[in-house]
Amino acid sequence: MTLLQLEGVSVRFAGSTAGNALDRVDLAVAEHEIVCVLGPSGSGKSTLLRVVAGLQQVSGGRVLLGGADQAAVPVHRRGVGLMFQDHQLFPHRDVGANVSFGLRMRGEGRTACTARVAELLDLVGLPGAQGRAVASLSGGEQQRVALARALAPSPRLLMLDEPLGQLDRGLRERLVVELRGLFIRLGTTVLAVTHDQGEAFALADRVVVMRDGRIAQAGTPLEVWQRPASEFVARFLGFENVVPADVSGEWATTAWGKVPVPAGSPQGGQRLLVRPAGVVLGAAGLRCEVVSRTFRGTHVTLGLRPSSGPPLEAECALAGAPAAGDAVEVTFTPDEVVVLPREEGP
Ligand code: ADP
Repeated sequence: MTLLQLEGVSVRFAGSTAGNALDRVDLAVAEHEIVCVLGPSGSGKSTLLRVVAGLQQVSGGRVLLGGADQAAVPVHRRGVGLMFQDHQLFPHRDVGANVSFGLRMRGEGRTACTARVAELLDLVGLPGAQGRAVASLSGGEQQRVALARALAPSPRLLMLDEPLGQLDRGLRERLVVELRGLFIRLGTTVLAVTHDQGEAFALADRVVVMRDGRIAQAGTPLEVWQRPASEFVARFLGFENVVPADVSGEWATTAWGKVPVPAGSPQGGQRLLVRPAGVVLGAAGLRCEVVSRTFRGTHVTLGLRPSSGPPLEAECALAGAPAAGDAVEVTFTPDEVVVLPREEGP
């Protein structure tokens, strides 16, 4: 069942010389689905959220929730919960009053509110925190309170804008796993926005990569990771090994020499991505100098300067990893090679 549907949604800001902030965006979010919108700054992510919330008028297209056109429906009647980056807690009210805010606005009685607040604080891992002052909470605790507040009125769609943006890396990585678990348990439908691809990939059932107000790619994290739809998406995901290539059969001629490509790849002049795991240190192949070695916990990332062609990034096991300055030779494995679809012009 589709809960949220965007049909050809465009937003153009008056006086803006740039293109549309959103340009004919089609997107469907199913009930219980967690969708994460990802993209560089200015790609239209926040505008997308604001349109769905009803905080931003569309210049074209329609937004439907549960099949109903939302054009005439004001923000507070859309049944969506919002949690923004700066989480805007009321600093002079205690935790309980912050969490029950939406419930009281809706006219819920005191007893029902008290019970619901206790339930939500348990849920977000802050049991008994009702009486605490907001100022006494850590950043992570404030995030949990903001989440409890957004969830309190049981919104049919929960929207998160850079939900963990302010927190340090370690805390974010832990919270994102918790959040996903919580949303799955509650069956919450979530539309989240982030510029952090790690966060999006850890949180989402499906990621939507935006570029200049358009969807550059939508798919499961695995699909997007394995098959980036364009050089833009590949580079946005942090892949650097991209070269022009002339593909013929299952081989491509590149500045790095011959590179094997998967069967069925598009032929002729193309752009080629080699994921770092597909650059294999071996006995005979392209000669490279190791210029950097970065410890990644489970593996090592090597920066290589090949004897021909642009720099290469390789991944290898910790044991026996070469050091900066070493000479190595590399070959390529086709299962980590992607012939990138051509980018659409604007
Ligand atoms: P993101 O959230 O991906 O950073 P935004 O949705 O905030 O992107 O912005 C998309 C585009 O719309 C940008 O070019 C931005 O400058 C422009 N924009 C956003 N809000 C406004 C506004 N209120 N007035 C004019 N232009 C805006």
